[in-house]
Amino acid sequence: MRKKVVAANWKMNLTIEESIELLQKIKNHINIDTKEVVLCVPFTNIYTCKEETKNTNIHIGAENLYFEEKGAYTGEISSSMLLSLGVEYVIIGHSERRQIFNENDEMINKKVLKALSKNIYPILCCGETLEQREKNETLSIIKNQLSKDLINVTKEDAMKIIIAYEPIWAIGTGKTATSSQAEEVCKYTREIIKELYDKEVSENVRILYGGSVKASNAKEIFAKENIDGGLIGGASLTEEFIDIVKA
Ligand code: PEP
Repeated sequence: MRKKVVAANWKMNLTIEESIELLQKIKNHINIDTKEVVLCVPFTNIYTCKEETKNTNIHIGAENLYFEEKGAYTGEISSSMLLSLGVEYVIIGHSERRQIFNENDEMINKKVLKALSKNIYPILCCGETLEQREKNETLSIIKNQLSKDLINVTKEDAMKIIIAYEPIWAIGTGKTATSSQAEEVCKYTREIIKELYDKEVSENVRILYGGSVKASNAKEIFAKENIDGGLIGGASLTEEFIDIVKA
């Protein structure tokens, strides 16, 4: 039985004061041990969020990392730095990183391998643009991304990865994929994992849906057989996140 995961992606939002304010409102309501609740927050907020969620079941994650160990990479953050803050999860390959910061699958693969080498769980994002969906390319895009992003990832490590299917046209747009559109791609994603690894990995890997998930649609989406929870952007910045975790 796969444990459901509800992960927040705060993106470039919330100062330290605002994070404390939000956490104080929500933390007791999302301190649930039947689901994995992960808050992926800006680097600057990690320490405070760890402190604020001490003695709870809430996990803290980062939104990115750099694949090199250390050195002259001004502005970047290494996996050891994240580990020393107690970070357990990291979002890798978010479409905003792919599109705005030109991250390609080769870099994403290096980041995945680096995170796994430090026992930080990658939340690996994949997804298609609207144009690709309209050209019927969704499934081949997902297959292409995952096959490249998972190069040299062992079977044992693959089980630790959380995959987030995030159609780019649904992120931050208010346009959610229907639960059957989301299920179709998540089911296919599981098949790709079976092809790349085996049945055991495909049955155990957690696959999330992300893209304008709200309290009003979360229950229907999370109820689908191949969807093990969600990656939540905008709605994780308010108390609405409580209802999504409970959905
Ligand atoms: C995201 O950024 O991962 C995301 C799913 O955003 P939103 O929920 O705002 O669409």
